[in-house]
Amino acid sequence: MKITNVKAIPLEVPVLSMEVPPESLPYYRELVGIVFDSYKSVLVFVETDEGITGLGECMTRVAPQAMASIVNEILRPVVIGNDPLDYELIWEQGFATMRQRGHNKGFMIEAISGVDIAIWDILGKFFNQPIYKLLGGKFRDKIKTYASSIRFKTPEDVVKETSEIMEAGFKAVKLKIGRGVDEDIAAVKAIRNAFGNTIAVMVDANSGYTENSAMKLGRAFERMEVEWFEEPIPPDNLEGYINLSRSLDIPIAAGESEFTRYGFRELITKRAIDIIQPNVGRAGGFTEIKKILAMASAFGIPYAPHTGSSGAPIMAAELHLATYAPGFLIHEYMRNAWSSEQANPLKDKIVNEKFEIFEDGYLKIPSGVGLGITINEKYKEYLVKSTL
Ligand SMILES: [Mg+2]
Repeated sequence: MKITNVKAIPLEVPVLSMEVPPESLPYYRELVGIVFDSYKSVLVFVETDEGITGLGECMTRVAPQAMASIVNEILRPVVIGNDPLDYELIWEQGFATMRQRGHNKGFMIEAISGVDIAIWDILGKFFNQPIYKLLGGKFRDKIKTYASSIRFKTPEDVVKETSEIMEAGFKAVKLKIGRGVDEDIAAVKAIRNAFGNTIAVMVDANSGYTENSAMKLGRAFERMEVEWFEEPIPPDNLEGYINLSRSLDIPIAAGESEFTRYGFRELITKRAIDIIQPNVGRAGGFTEIKKILAMASAFGIPYAPHTGSSGAPIMAAELHLATYAPGFLIHEYMRNAWSSEQANPLKDKIVNEKFEIFEDGYLKIPSGVGLGITINEKYKEYLVKSTL
């Protein structure tokens, strides 16, 4: 089998009303109209001489056209002509194109990720198997999941939303934090006062705190039996992560901002985190996540996949990893994206299958071959219009 073509398609859907701005992020007022103005994605189609086309997605937060250009202009000529079964060789060749030129984080790795996911989709279709079987097998019959996420509300509204989430069948919920130490403690306290320990609670600061504030918060969250403290501080502060992980009993979770086995090697071997959260569409695709998971397992570090506001191919890919991963902990189910009135159509509307099926605290494992999803024509409504 030979790869005959690679096509990356940039998509974008304006977010009409963001429910709550991401106010824990630095400069969010200036950046909200750039980073969070729309749902974005880059779909990748890899074609073969066997008539099989693979589907992938690059995690895309800004400039989908730039991402698509990296795939089409840099990776396409590298990938064409290869056998998809040589997926590791293809990965290394793509990675080598930018070696010594700022190759190891950001757009380049997200572009490689999208191509890699599409190649695994081809392999699944070729062998008539779901991707989790090719990864190493079905380790579980259903995928434990949590509701993500409650965003910056008053304690009363946090309690109200938690109650709705529990009624929907969730046993665990994640709360966005970062408004301030006292306000964040009050929000978690409100859940504990209303529901005791009948629901598991995680908190996610999206790297909005300083080390000192994170330490203070971490101690308070320990007392309230919070399951994990996600991205307490900026990803650039590795020493800070090491210090927090050593000093606090609450598990520190991170990884959505990290790339490749080289990036995760630092987090894992320096014991900077207790739970890893790579995104398959950002960290390097299935090929690289498998290596990251092997490294994590050698250090006894569990895996809680990051999904975020991604499109359907990444969401489907994460379900395959969650079905397979030996060290799997719990899956991030996005019950709302950035707007509760406007779900992300790049997840729900561009595929023919309903592939995320939630029931009583669990998601069903994927069905079908490859990723188990097919793209419909509706994606063409969301093509990026040129900004120039
Ligand atoms: Mg997060």
